[in-house]
Amino acid sequence: MPQKPIVIIGGGIGGLSAAIRLAVRGQRVIILEKNPIIGGKMGQVERDGFRWDTGPSVITMRHVFEDLFREAGRDFADYVRLLPVTPLTRYFYPDGVIFDAHADLSRMANEIERLEPRDVEGYLAYLAYAARIHRITGPVFIYDRPPRPSSFRRVPPTDWLKVDPFRTMSGAIRRFVRHPHMRQLLGRFATYVGGSPYSAPATLNVIAHVELTGGVWYPQGGIYRIAAAMRTLAEELGVEIRTETPVESITVRDDRVTGVQITGGDHIAAQAVIANVDVTTTYQHLLSQTPAITARAERLRNYQPSCSGFIMLLGVEGQHSGLAHHNIFFSADYRREFDAIFKTQTAPDDPTIYVAITSKADADHAPAGCENWFVLVNMPPTSAGLDLRDYGGRVLDKLAAFGYDITDKIKSQTIYTPADLERMSGAWRGALYGPSANSKWTAFRRPHNRSREVRGLYFAGGTTHPGGGVPMVTLSGKVAAELLLEDAGIR
Ligand SMILES: Cc1cc2nc3c(=O)[nH]c(=O)nc-3n(C[C@H](O)[C@H](O)[C@H](O)COP(=O)(O)OP(=O)(O)OC[C@H]3O[C@@H](n4cnc5c(N)ncnc54)[C@H](O)[C@@H]3O)c2cc1C
Repeated sequence: MPQKPIVIIGGGIGGLSAAIRLAVRGQRVIILEKNPIIGGKMGQVERDGFRWDTGPSVITMRHVFEDLFREAGRDFADYVRLLPVTPLTRYFYPDGVIFDAHADLSRMANEIERLEPRDVEGYLAYLAYAARIHRITGPVFIYDRPPRPSSFRRVPPTDWLKVDPFRTMSGAIRRFVRHPHMRQLLGRFATYVGGSPYSAPATLNVIAHVELTGGVWYPQGGIYRIAAAMRTLAEELGVEIRTETPVESITVRDDRVTGVQITGGDHIAAQAVIANVDVTTTYQHLLSQTPAITARAERLRNYQPSCSGFIMLLGVEGQHSGLAHHNIFFSADYRREFDAIFKTQTAPDDPTIYVAITSKADADHAPAGCENWFVLVNMPPTSAGLDLRDYGGRVLDKLAAFGYDITDKIKSQTIYTPADLERMSGAWRGALYGPSANSKWTAFRRPHNRSREVRGLYFAGGTTHPGGGVPMVTLSGKVAAELLLEDAGIR
């Protein structure tokens, strides 16, 4: 009898990463993806002569992708050409200050010196502090399996408080730098996991270390090249990928996975299932409701989700030499903006606007003389029931106030709201990064990569350990695959 396959529901980055690792260890793997293309939130759109990446645009921690390909005996560089992005980001402040952030220390110090000379030493101390958090938390909370109380034994007691779990990110940042612009810039890293710098634990300053020390990378051709490369590698290793194949349910007998039911199609018997779908969505919609499943779904629904997003894909006439590859147009009152997103759950009236332009690096992403703008504003998750029909106008007005009036130059426009994000990826309430990082307990409350209720069911993706963001979900695929192999007795 042929070996029953391992079925992975969802061809997002977490699902692809798990598939590659399982295939390397000789397992038969089938990925079932509901959309016409794989990649999940890492998507791409081509329209009116323009091309955009529709999800992630900032790639850090390149070693995570290199490790994945190395495990399969391949060199990531043969699949994807990573270019360093300089400056990392160009920041625009409402008072007219423009600040280029660099991973190169002397260039960054020069920029800071222009703002506030005393912040140069504060910034260097901040980098050392963030690097220390990474050294201590990395092996236990990022690169390994979900933490348990016993995980703390691996952290020497002298290091416990050095990871700074009790203050907020912004509270810690204030101790290092004094200029409000520097505080806003460093606080923004909370949004990389969909959180607020005024609530997220200071431990998350580790994110700044990853970007400001490790740098930001752009795959030549677009971010989607990473998803495409993972697909190529998975297929080289024999993984079967079926797109436009939505899974209706995970079938279970005696609390053990038996397979999956395809919507309007066959039942596939499986030895194990990895859900790359949002964990809350999986418990709510893909599993039959037993008391234990319902109770788990209820608990998951109680987690505060990370922020969602309002996205504009704009084809813009003209070349804007004042803009870099990554640009941030900051709000005047950052705290008020996060209060809107997480407390009053309203659309920020003065949003921070992110603009990424990949045609700066890849001219063929826009027709000659034009640019492809990917515009993102953080938003409350879907059930806030926001009416965002006119929000695009507010975004354009704000860009105009910064000197970029493009209203009459737009040749192509596509808008995605939080509800669209929920529909497209199955993300509960359209959250970009799963459960919000606004609690110091998030790392411990994150749903485990192994289901407690159903044997043979595992999770890979941004809603499980170690968290959201492309490198993290790549690692989550590794954890899910390792747990599955261990349970199956496969070394
Ligand atoms: C706008 C935006 C900007 C972002 N920016 C960044 C960034 O700059 N840097 C960064 O690192 N990260 C960023 N992220 C986060 C990053 O994209 C995600 O954390 C990551 O891509 C999520 O991967 P995942 O494996 O969790 O799966 P997902 O991408 O959520 O994929 C899940 C897959 O499952 C499929 N699926 C769902 N239900 C079913 C079903 N019933 N049957 C079959 N298939 C199903 C979906 O179609 C989807 O393909 C951003 C995300 C968004 C949306």
